[in-house]
Amino acid sequence: MCSIIGYSGNESAAPVIVKGLRRMEYRGYDSVGVATESENQIGVKKGVGKVADVNSKMNLEDLPGKTGIGHTRWATHGKVTDTNAHPHPSNSGKIAIVHNGIIENFEELKEQLKKDGYDFKSETDSEVIANLLQKNYNVSKNVKETMITTVSELRGHYSFIAMFEDGQLAAARFHEPLIIGVGKENYFLSSDVLGFIEQTDDAVYIDNGQFVLIDQKNMQIFDFSGKEIKPQITKVSKEFADVYKGDYAHFTLKEISEQPETIFKAGENTQDAIKVSSDYLKHAKNVYLTGSGTSYNASLVAKYLFSKYAKIKTESIIASEMQFSPDSIEPNSILIAISQSGESADVLEAVNIAKKANCKIISIINSLTSTLARESDIVIGMNCGPEIGVAATKSFTSQLIILYKIIQELSIEKIEINFQEISTSISKILEEHNEIKKLANEIKGISDIYVLGRGIHYPIAIESALKIKELTYIHAEGIAGGELKHGPLALMDSNVFVIIINPDDSTYHDTLMSAREIKARGAKIIGISDKNSEVYDFWVKLPKTDELTYAICETIPIQLLSYYAALEKESDPDYPRNLAKSVTVK
Ligand code: GLU
Repeated sequence: MCSIIGYSGNESAAPVIVKGLRRMEYRGYDSVGVATESENQIGVKKGVGKVADVNSKMNLEDLPGKTGIGHTRWATHGKVTDTNAHPHPSNSGKIAIVHNGIIENFEELKEQLKKDGYDFKSETDSEVIANLLQKNYNVSKNVKETMITTVSELRGHYSFIAMFEDGQLAAARFHEPLIIGVGKENYFLSSDVLGFIEQTDDAVYIDNGQFVLIDQKNMQIFDFSGKEIKPQITKVSKEFADVYKGDYAHFTLKEISEQPETIFKAGENTQDAIKVSSDYLKHAKNVYLTGSGTSYNASLVAKYLFSKYAKIKTESIIASEMQFSPDSIEPNSILIAISQSGESADVLEAVNIAKKANCKIISIINSLTSTLARESDIVIGMNCGPEIGVAATKSFTSQLIILYKIIQELSIEKIEINFQEISTSISKILEEHNEIKKLANEIKGISDIYVLGRGIHYPIAIESALKIKELTYIHAEGIAGGELKHGPLALMDSNVFVIIINPDDSTYHDTLMSAREIKARGAKIIGISDKNSEVYDFWVKLPKTDELTYAICETIPIQLLSYYAALEKESDPDYPRNLAKSVTVK
């Protein structure tokens, strides 16, 4: 998702901002821009494309001055064009803004501003902020007053940074992330600590409904009514500075390859939280799980495990659907919220709904300094290090491990997870990836892939289909084996590939039967299994492991297959088109 950044200090601002934007690139974006102030003049450069490309074309870093703002845009209102890229200056050119989020009443505000004589260059909702600030500043001539009036007129969810021609920065937060980095002689504003972590690890998390004023010497925080708030400085983990690819061609491959180690780290520093969570869950009236995308798929695996091993019935709800069925949340229940970033707007909204119903929130998060962490009663850390590739890989297996650890605590007939075995099995799959590479070449021209599984392997099939879609842009769908005859069989022909998740367990024979029915219609069969069969056109061999945790390993070959197929199709596996890592807008 988009990133905003601001800098005020004694260094040249533009290079600091470009560097910060590059570190936040993983969040996903389509355009980039920087504005700086020098000698009471605001200069803006912006365009469509990657930070490095736009920078080499337009020399963003050459903008003069020690105060500046920057943006990577993920378009919500208006096409991906140079004009729609941020920063947006006000009509007078005396204020420029960068904005993350959506201004819901922008049409109304735009109409009014037009009547007041303002005109608009872009199609974005964001440009109204610049002109509204200008209008209010012309009246009050005071930045604090201007901010109080402006935020009272904006509806929607946003974080924005405004730069005034005298070099003051003002930034507001309302349901989108905004963090202050406090250096020795400089201040940073950023959507993510990665925007400044190389310069300082002292951060101030601005709360919802607060704004901040910064000049080169001072920082002041206020709530939206203008009451001053005392800043609380938090140390952020330097570990998040470690976001380099090393010897790997892509972050995605690096992150896939880290899984033999990350599965040991999941929940490691929050073992007590796992125990406390289990106690709560044991006595809970109702247990709900929520997440978006891959995290939601992890919740589906958990639903199966809770019922099988702990005899606890749970309900998995897609985070963005919660608002449409809020009455289905029984008061005083427990919600397990799963999110890599802890900033996903949909998950935060689901948590908000559950909190209104007086539910306890247990969250499984990678970023422990995120908004979700602060909104939760209990936080369990995935601890898998920064995940930069937009498609979730190691975070998925870490989520699963934590859910397994909780279920181990709750299990009726005590289960024991063999972490070493999982790790060894993943390492083996990673080592023997040449077959998968060949397969990637086979599927690159295919337009439809179906992934079929039963029982716990069905959510794994759904997650596999998601990985294929995200990384290869091939249409993919997860199918519950038994549903084949109730519809999807109509689609099977020689143009289709079907991946059969078929371990040697109680689902094996039924799933093999499905494979035969599909093959009879001419489709090609890829079997992912610890047991071969003549039905498979391609067999991806998995090591035999404990049935309890086997499902965790099944996802690795599909992560690899999707990665290599993305390379075959010459698309960028780290930054799939139209997608963003941390989806902070609804
Ligand atoms: N709504 C704004 C736009 O479309 C900001 C989107 C973003 O968060 O990048 O320009």
